Amino acid sequence: MPNPGNPSDGPLHPPLAALAALRAGHRRYLAGTATGSPGPAPTVAVFSCADPQPAAETLFPGVDLYVVRTAGLAVGPSVLGSLEYAVDRLGVPLVVVLGHDRCGAAAGAGDGAVRRAAALLLQRSTLLARAVTAGHCAVVGMSWRAELGRVRPVPRVAPAPAARLRSRARPPAARPAGAPR
Ligand SMILES: [Zn+2]
Repeated sequence: MPNPGNPSDGPLHPPLAALAALRAGHRRYLAGTATGSPGPAPTVAVFSCADPQPAAETLFPGVDLYVVRTAGLAVGPSVLGSLEYAVDRLGVPLVVVLGHDRCGAAAGAGDGAVRRAAALLLQRSTLLARAVTAGHCAVVGMSWRAELGRVRPVPRVAPAPAARLRSRARPPAARPAGAPR
């Protein structure tokens, strides 16, 4: 993750600011210090499984959430339309695909189900893919781990927002000849 204090980075990018807010919310959940209630303008869209698991509002207290749930993170037209509305009309800068362990409804297990759902969102929605490419929005993966009692990040959900932000920040001319793309 880029250093927010680096002056060359300017203000914290909206997707990263939203991710920081979400992580702060989960720390409040873990610490049992949740206070206040969210306002009307969502900061983060959470797409999660409909299976019994702690609700996103419980896991990220104090964060303004926009929540979509389907069994096994199934990606259909209503999911795509709901998330496109959040990103395009409400200006939500971060979409979290939130899976959970021991999911009986998802095709593929655990982190694989999260990566598959995130990939489908970007394959099937031109609007979401363009918002990510433009840096207006990021898609990240997370998973509720019941045995740990906490949410863990799911790595390698492409495209990773931090890598994309770094590539945006670097002028093309600065890329060394022969560097891997
Ligand atoms: Zn599930």
